[in-house]
Amino acid sequence: MIVKTEAIILRSMKYGETSRILTLYTRDFGRMSVIVKGARGEKNKFGASLDLMSRSAVVMYRKEHRELQLMTQADLLRQYRGIIDAPDRLMYGFAILEFLSATVHGEEAHEELYDILLQALEALDAERVRPVNVLLHYLLRLSEALGIGVDTQHCMRCRASFDHEDTLRGGTSFSLSDGGFPCTDCAPAADSLVCAVETLRALSWLDRHEAARVHTLALSSHASQEGLNLLHRHIVTHVPDMRAIRSLPMLDIFS
Ligand SMILES: [Zn+2]
Repeated sequence: MIVKTEAIILRSMKYGETSRILTLYTRDFGRMSVIVKGARGEKNKFGASLDLMSRSAVVMYRKEHRELQLMTQADLLRQYRGIIDAPDRLMYGFAILEFLSATVHGEEAHEELYDILLQALEALDAERVRPVNVLLHYLLRLSEALGIGVDTQHCMRCRASFDHEDTLRGGTSFSLSDGGFPCTDCAPAADSLVCAVETLRALSWLDRHEAARVHTLALSSHASQEGLNLLHRHIVTHVPDMRAIRSLPMLDIFS
């Protein structure tokens, strides 16, 4: 069946003399692997539409249960030059693509995952940006969309609101098994990770704002690192068959 959809290019690999094999995240079918014939060399009519991170309108010949679909047409809708041309943003862009790629398997439509991916790329491409905030925000939204959302607003045990200063007066921690934070009065879980109150407050703020607004929060490098570490560990713990995220240690905040 011939189908049309919209996609972000997650991976691109040369194949044979003139072809490419791509991994896409599509609006209508989720993650897909496709082969594109004539995608290289003099007769290449695809231009930047097949480049990593491009957003393209694509046409495919799709068969159910086939691992590699045949893509016949792609038209560039948007190239995120603000990310591609800025090395300090590019690694964060790779990390976003890699997290998505590692957490979804096979073809399964999930429009929310597509939308939050677009929002993250738009935010990372914007004129004013704090790349680490975009990634942290993306990981919070990704967890939520995958059904493993982290509650940054309430104690995971007694549900007390963290809006009250004294619920966190003696600190908190992050429970990997619960995917949440205990207040000062409740017992931490056995598998807790250290988490400063500052980090929890930052995650909570990010959680309450849209991707396009996250650049307004100034975050210390300690809170950024701690937040990324705990969200990474959280996702790896709760998503089955998850690959390690290789681009994470390469981010500038860890160097
Ligand atoms: Zn509590």
